[in-house]
Amino acid sequence: MQYLYETDREIFRALKAEIERQTGQLEMIASENFVSEAVMEAEGSAFMNKYAEGYPGRRYYGGCENMDVVERLAVERLNMLFGSEFANVQPHSGSQANMAVYFAILNPGDTILSMSLAHGGHLSHGARVSFSGRLFNVVHYGVSKDTEQIDFDEVGAKALKHRPRLIVAGASAYPRTINFEEFKMIADEVGAYLMVDMAHIAGLVAAGIHPSPVPFADFVTSTTHKTLRGPRGGFILAKEQYARLINSQIFPGIQGGPLMHVIAAKAVAFKEALAAEFKTYQQNIVKNARQLATTLKDRGFRLVSGGTDNHMVLVDLTDKKITGKEAEEVLEMAGITVNKNAIPFDPQPPTVTSGIRIGTPAITTRGLTEKDVEEVANYIADILLDPSNDSLIRDVRLKIKAICDRYPLYTERLERYNAVLQREK
Ligand code: PLP
Repeated sequence: MQYLYETDREIFRALKAEIERQTGQLEMIASENFVSEAVMEAEGSAFMNKYAEGYPGRRYYGGCENMDVVERLAVERLNMLFGSEFANVQPHSGSQANMAVYFAILNPGDTILSMSLAHGGHLSHGARVSFSGRLFNVVHYGVSKDTEQIDFDEVGAKALKHRPRLIVAGASAYPRTINFEEFKMIADEVGAYLMVDMAHIAGLVAAGIHPSPVPFADFVTSTTHKTLRGPRGGFILAKEQYARLINSQIFPGIQGGPLMHVIAAKAVAFKEALAAEFKTYQQNIVKNARQLATTLKDRGFRLVSGGTDNHMVLVDLTDKKITGKEAEEVLEMAGITVNKNAIPFDPQPPTVTSGIRIGTPAITTRGLTEKDVEEVANYIADILLDPSNDSLIRDVRLKIKAICDRYPLYTERLERYNAVLQREK
């Protein structure tokens, strides 16, 4: 920390403030998590100095022997974790992983059938503002109005009508188990490829808590930084027959040199995910999400689809006289970070929304239990039911701070930052 402080005080101060923000409030954004010190050490390391274009044993630069060790370990561990035949760990992000699969099997103008953003899908699944929506002909399915769960009748009917070359399953805001087998049956019926983007649920899948897409999908893409609790990044899994195709689409298709420091950090995170405790961690994420759902329902909130099977809940605020945007802001003031999120058939625009998405991966990493979650969910309810009560917000802020103190995070790191500042005085 001393070097950063001496070289660039502005960045040092922003970093210190960010660690204080992350540790001093409750992070309940469903797509975020806290990596281990080991993962951070691997990423903030000399691996970042090296060009390693190509793949292990076939690099376009000299001096890659240690890079080969790192990338081979990452690939081996990832295949072990998901029982896959082939893995590419080079995608810089989840969106890059998706782009590589699209470019591998589609031509511009080909048809993709995917979940609409408005019903829980991701931008990179064909939203108009994304490269995916600009290059391909995208048809969307959504959830049914009654159950708010994926409407397989609609998926089947649209697949038959539009004959997509690729069906995409997977979501960013969907609190229920996804039936990949059903998607596979529909894809087979119309001769489409099936890609599953398991970014949100990868940790649950690794721990065997959510059914795996690997036996059913031609391609599985993911991020590494959500429930899987690794560094920011992506990966692709596929059957061995697609290995060359996928590898060449990542490099040189859409990327140059791999981020070897990130790949090293991914390898460390995969090792952590293979350990027995990781399963317990994932089970606790789900238990905490169920508790969150139960308490919010008891307090009179309607949850999209009525509850949760995974790590998140989607709260419908339409009958609560508060928008998603306002809810996000007022909870932030009380020390609880969530994000506004469209609910299916949302009457509000995406910048406002009628819902919030709340997730438990990060607070579970901190160690919060169901009892703590019940307490937090009650604070969330108190605030959303009385959002202009400033003294209530101040009071909850103090209680959230007390919970954070009970479950400290990155303690040594914070001490190091403070020690550097102390020397200045
Ligand atoms: N796929 C899904 C389902 C996601 O939820 C996300 C991120 O939220 C992504 C892909 C994109 O990942 P990235 O932000 O790393 O590009």
